[in-house]
Amino acid sequence: MKILPDSRGYFNEFGGKYVPETLMFALDELIEIYNKLKHDREFKKELYYYLKQYAGRPTPLYFARELTKKLGGARIYLKREDLCHTGAHKINNAIGQALLAKKLKKGRIIAETGAGQHGVAAATAAALFGMKCEVYMGREDMKRQALNVYRMKLLGASVIPVDSGTRTLKDAINETIRDWVANVKTTHYLLGSCVGPHPYPSIVRDFQSVIGREAREQVLKAEGRLPDYLLACVGGGSNAIGLFHPFYKDKVKFIGVEAAGRGLKTGMHSAPLNIGSVGILHGTRSYLMQDSNGQVRETHSVSAGLDYPGVGPEHSYYKNTGRAEYVTATDREALAAFHTLSETEGIIPALEPAHALAYLNTLAKKTGKNKIIIVCLSGRGDKDLDIVRKKK
Ligand SMILES: *Cc1c(COP(=O)(O)O)cnc(C)c1O
Repeated sequence: MKILPDSRGYFNEFGGKYVPETLMFALDELIEIYNKLKHDREFKKELYYYLKQYAGRPTPLYFARELTKKLGGARIYLKREDLCHTGAHKINNAIGQALLAKKLKKGRIIAETGAGQHGVAAATAAALFGMKCEVYMGREDMKRQALNVYRMKLLGASVIPVDSGTRTLKDAINETIRDWVANVKTTHYLLGSCVGPHPYPSIVRDFQSVIGREAREQVLKAEGRLPDYLLACVGGGSNAIGLFHPFYKDKVKFIGVEAAGRGLKTGMHSAPLNIGSVGILHGTRSYLMQDSNGQVRETHSVSAGLDYPGVGPEHSYYKNTGRAEYVTATDREALAAFHTLSETEGIIPALEPAHALAYLNTLAKKTGKNKIIIVCLSGRGDKDLDIVRKKK
């Protein structure tokens, strides 16, 4: 099994670089420096210094004894990305890319954000390295996520409202790409998930693979063997691919959980791998949610981080080759799992990984007591308390 992408950025028929000519130079520059730095000991040392001393790595692999007991099946471990600085896995990638930007001698970072989580991670990394940071955000999202807008401002970033289209994430991404085209000499586009044109899907995967590398070592130490299942929620797919990738060649089953929203039949969901079709969005070829005219469809999920119409090309490749299985959980199932974990383990999860936790009801019971499951607990739930409170 060869590890993709190929030199042109393809995972078989997925991926690639579908961008305006003016960005080809920037992507090629990024590919060149990244290919050099990813094997560079000094760079890796510097990156790990910040991941450890600043972001709080390694995160624990916690045996969820009470949850295991409650579900009565497989042994469940939680990879505690919720304990990272800023409360989620996104900081791993933000620090990595900000360091890359530093090496590229680019003093300005731009980013796009939907719920504001990636904007906060990017603003944090920019503050850490003394860089200027501007974050595009749909005006609608700014209203819904006022606290994160304020957080970004506290961190010294400016937030630029986007008034085109539906005034949400996909429109903010379009604006960020436009800005990058105009300012590519001085600016790094800090992309938040394993989506977008080559080399972003592999860069983000590699920076997030610290999750799987640690988990692999930790489970071997705790159990003396590899797990049977890895389970993670999939928005763009970065926490999932970060957990999966270091186990790629092992006999371990990968399961990604997409957001079924109000139900797959209602059309109000965010599950491109389950019922999307192949197309091009934001510079990459992958599964996405589009209508019969190729117009991107609106998505819905109770968790803002899963509310994206596309998915990383490597997941599309995993789906078509059968390397991973992709299932769904509804808003309601995720909310129930949110409460279950809070009550049984004293850990309030973000609503995104609550989708992965929800699938444990099916998986842990189906598999016997001698099986091991690792779930990526990608973030903590503090940011979601208002949403959950209103649902009660
Ligand atoms: C953003 C976010 C996600 C979804 O992004 P991926 O790229 O799919 O990982 C999942 N969990 C949390 C906590 C998030 O903030």
